[in-house]
Amino acid sequence: MADKRDYYEVLEVPKTATAEEIKKAYRKKAIQYHPDKNPGDKEAEEKFKEAAEAYEVLSDPQKRQRYDQYGFAGMGGAGGFSGGGMSMEDIFSHFGDIFQGAGFDLGDLGEMFMGGRGGRGGQRVRRGSDMRVKVHLTLEEIATGCEKKIKVRKLVQCKDCNGSGSADGRTETCPTCKGSGRVIRQQRGIFGMMQVQAECETCGGEGTIIKNKCPKCGGQGVVRDEEIITITIPAGVAGGMQLTVQGKGNAAPRGGVPGDLLVLIEEEEHKDFVRQDSDLIYNLLLDMPTAVLGGQVQIPTLTGDVKITITPGTQPGKVLRMRGKGLPRIDQYGRNYGTGDLLINVGVYIPEKLSKDERKLIEQLQDSPNVVPGSADKKNFFRNLFGF
Ligand SMILES: [Zn+2]
Ligand SMILES: [Zn+2]
Repeated sequence: MADKRDYYEVLEVPKTATAEEIKKAYRKKAIQYHPDKNPGDKEAEEKFKEAAEAYEVLSDPQKRQRYDQYGFAGMGGAGGFSGGGMSMEDIFSHFGDIFQGAGFDLGDLGEMFMGGRGGRGGQRVRRGSDMRVKVHLTLEEIATGCEKKIKVRKLVQCKDCNGSGSADGRTETCPTCKGSGRVIRQQRGIFGMMQVQAECETCGGEGTIIKNKCPKCGGQGVVRDEEIITITIPAGVAGGMQLTVQGKGNAAPRGGVPGDLLVLIEEEEHKDFVRQDSDLIYNLLLDMPTAVLGGQVQIPTLTGDVKITITPGTQPGKVLRMRGKGLPRIDQYGRNYGTGDLLINVGVYIPEKLSKDERKLIEQLQDSPNVVPGSADKKNFFRNLFGF
């Protein structure tokens, strides 16, 4: 363990690197040291594993935090990373996520990166496609976190054949490629004729064929069906965020790995509040006498109405702050760090229509010394409102 290199150094990223930068750096290393590109090269294989281990830790926010804090010492023990224990299969099984959305064609990459070589475990691992859904949340649901059940139409494993695609459960070795899933083809390249490996068309690279196809799914191993999925929404999420529910996307044909369900958060408008990050804003319009004399007014919060005290002489434009009455604050890793506030914008309603009697009352006030602002009052008023 003494000669272990720092994970950031392995991936050649700064300690401040974002998740996306770490992913990109790992992709680069994985391609550079991939065993297919460096056959028989022990050093490349070690580098390949080293990079995978570094990525395993740095791509997981909790492991990364532990590593940042305690170094390799934080990686041992229960729940930690044991170090060097990753098999090639573990490494390849992560590639679906890493190369997704990177401008690579996963179909092509699958051949190279997902274990499609003859020697290593046989056939390629197919991965079902990801699905996207939207969930609409109220601010109340965001405040507490919630569970949402949604119905999705998607590819699920065929029950008749248990996803095998075969009516009798049997598969046969592909006669074209003899089970390797690959065929050698001659192809004209810039340096003349070259031999290239290509996916076997008879079996689609799987190495096996099904003679007696399952009639329900036509040999695909998947059928379209509805599924009700429960999604756990953590408190404090915001519109535009995307959550990933692993393995809940479309099933893969013939026993592959299912894709993910990507959940896009949408926020419903609230009748009382406008959200500003983790703070909530409420507009309170006071009547003139309450602003002048003070009193109690009722204010809604996400957890029910509360009474607040208005001090005599409250000016329009004042902002009252109720600490902790906003939404949970979460960082980019979804960790909670406190709660936002409820900000109350105070306005004072100046009546627009007056009865005769009301008009009389106001006229009586008009020349009263405390009603007419002095120059100090004017200065304070605008300074409080606009800061100058
Ligand atoms: Zn079937
Ligand atoms: Zn074949």
